Amino acid sequence: MRVEVGQSLLELVEGDITQQDTEAVVNAANEQLRVGGGVDGAINRAGGPKIQEEARKIGHCPTGQAVITTGGNLKAKYVIHTVGPIYRDGRHGEPELLASAYRESLKMASARGIKSLAFPSLSTGVYGYPVADAAKIALKTVKDYLAEHPEIELVRFVLFGKPTYEAYARALEEI
Ligand code: ADP
Repeated sequence: MRVEVGQSLLELVEGDITQQDTEAVVNAANEQLRVGGGVDGAINRAGGPKIQEEARKIGHCPTGQAVITTGGNLKAKYVIHTVGPIYRDGRHGEPELLASAYRESLKMASARGIKSLAFPSLSTGVYGYPVADAAKIALKTVKDYLAEHPEIELVRFVLFGKPTYEAYARALEEI
């Protein structure tokens, strides 16, 4: 599924983010920037030790912010590491922090002249964010950003498994 937003493209695909040929892929990191499970483990396994070496030097990333490292052995040249919120009940700033994680990743891409990037579904794995709610926030935040930032040509959401893909496809139709 793909839509045009201004001069940019917003795509939804079902797949594995480690296989993407976008200039950057976004990692669902933790604040310690230590290798975890889920998409983080997959990116570090596929990209090799250089990613974690650079991440360790950076040391920390607050929730809602983003940092950047090499893509190591990935096709993507860069990994943008962002930290989504751990979901409690939706009344502890989770929506704002989730939107911030997407926005700060996009800002990092713009600042580095990165024209294409791939996002996973931030916070909806171990961090427990309900995917239908997270999908609306993710897509709205990215759409709003692209409308004002034509320098980013492509944002691709790489959704792991059909249920997550379908949740995003529904959300895209709704917003
Ligand atoms: P978080 O801690 O932010 O919740 P997770 O990595 O646990 O992050 O999960 C985020 C999303 O990434 C989940 O939807 C999970 O299914 C998905 N995911 C796991 N592995 C991959 C992968 N290789 N490519 C894309 N998405 C993945």
